[in-house]
Amino acid sequence: MRNVAVIGSGTMGNGIAHVFAQHGFSVALIDINQPALEKGLATIGKNLDRQVAKGALTDADKTATLGRLTTYTSVAEGVKNAGLVVEAATENVELKLNIFRELDQHAPADAILASNTSSISITRIAAVTKRPAQVIGMHFMNPVPVMKLVEVIRGYATSEEVTQRIMDLSRELGKTPTEVNDYPGFVANRILMPMINEAIYSLYEGVAGVEEIDTVMKLGMAHPMGPLQLADFIGLDVCLAILRVLHEGLGNQKYAPCPLLVNMVTAGRLGVKSGEGFYSWTHGTKDLVLAERFRK
Ligand code: NAD
Repeated sequence: MRNVAVIGSGTMGNGIAHVFAQHGFSVALIDINQPALEKGLATIGKNLDRQVAKGALTDADKTATLGRLTTYTSVAEGVKNAGLVVEAATENVELKLNIFRELDQHAPADAILASNTSSISITRIAAVTKRPAQVIGMHFMNPVPVMKLVEVIRGYATSEEVTQRIMDLSRELGKTPTEVNDYPGFVANRILMPMINEAIYSLYEGVAGVEEIDTVMKLGMAHPMGPLQLADFIGLDVCLAILRVLHEGLGNQKYAPCPLLVNMVTAGRLGVKSGEGFYSWTHGTKDLVLAERFRK
């Protein structure tokens, strides 16, 4: 378990790799896309600098953390010595099933295979492997180095021993693990995504503007940021994918994604990662974009 492989070097993967490396684990960071690996490493460097500036880490800790990270573009190569694999690739069922087939083939037989999926069934992912008892959900929150929660999702076949090992390991990373069962959206997104979707509907129906909706939720409900800003941070494509899983998996119309969200994703407006979502992020800060574009 001291050798960890992380699949995907995007928003979540680089954060997960950062936290494991900071806590002394050797980390293989794997992505099919070389520029994504470079961007991931640059983000880890920037986030470590922030921790050093705050006095939470020393310069030597930063150097040691970076020294524990190796990057790969081949899954087979990157996972061959792993005791634990944490998959944090794009939220797409077929893509994840293919990755887990590949992991099952190339990771050591006793390795635990975890997914950071926000909503896809762990039981379904586990079923494509020959080791379903060793497949589990390890759902970190964004930004991973800061957020304390790990939602640990126990699939239908996940063993008690594997669950306890992942609970202990999460504590070793300084996190608070919480065990939940495997139903669409688990707990975090079953509750969060309908709120975000409703905020988007409120904008789409002209109930209020972007800033007004976020201000009401921030100041009125003491949320650290409004739901539209949060959606920009999560990624609008990720929000849409999760809502589709809730809609299909629970068969209830209340989870149907707002047409505005569908349009924005189709147009490539994905939030912070693409430079524009409900806000513009091109200057590195949150700027308002033309409100008219959001109206029905
Ligand atoms: P992202 O789009 O930022 O990054 C995904 C990365 O996966 C990309 O770099 C892509 O190149 C890579 N990838 C795609 N296919 C791959 C493959 N076959 N092998 C290796 N790498 C591959 O996505 P993200 O926001 O980091 O989300 C990753 C996972 O984490 C998703 O399952 C998502 O639901 C979950 N998640 C996201 C958040 C969030 O706030 N963004 C929070 C919790 C969980």
